[in-house]
Amino acid sequence: MGADKAKAITLSELCTHIFPPPKGRKGKGVCVWCGKEVDEMFDIKVSDNFMGWCYFSFGDCMCRYCYAFFSKQSFRKKSWVATKSGVKFIKRDEIMELLLQPPKPPWFLYITKTGQKQGWLHCIHKVNLSSFSFTVAFEPFDFPVQTNISEVHALHNLLSFLRERKVTKTELLTGVFKMKTYERAIKEGYEEELKRAKKYAGKGIWEVMCHVIK
Ligand SMILES: [Zn+2]
Repeated sequence: MGADKAKAITLSELCTHIFPPPKGRKGKGVCVWCGKEVDEMFDIKVSDNFMGWCYFSFGDCMCRYCYAFFSKQSFRKKSWVATKSGVKFIKRDEIMELLLQPPKPPWFLYITKTGQKQGWLHCIHKVNLSSFSFTVAFEPFDFPVQTNISEVHALHNLLSFLRERKVTKTELLTGVFKMKTYERAIKEGYEEELKRAKKYAGKGIWEVMCHVIK
């Protein structure tokens, strides 16, 4: 699909390309986060209580994009969607729409929960080059969540169906249903849907969708 064609780009390049570039110092180095060789070096600037050293690799500096990315606290504190036209900070109730209808590639979606962790550290090379099969980053996980558009639509239908029948978010998330919920499902004929939800509990994309569904 023509519309799906996009060139590989790092997460920091996608997120910070429209910012005015900061000034570094001349010298050949390797960026610790994206691994690119650069001739304009920036100090490795992370907070004092930074816990993400294991997501860095061999390198002695940051490139301008990674440096700019780490300087902006909002990337940690908020959820956002990044595309070629820039970064948009978003609210929790705007996320489902993006999952159901992803932007034109390249794109990336970060979903925060507490705003404490840098849940995108493992995603420097995970920018989506497709709107069909993609990954998203969810703060509590230290791995990218892999999914595709068909799965998202199927899970959205299932979740909406059960939410309309007053199944709680906690029940959906854990796959542990109250006796009352089972009884109602038997009476109203949606045991199958409950069983399917139980199977999905514990899967990355299911947790993400339980978090963002109303
Ligand atoms: Zn870099």
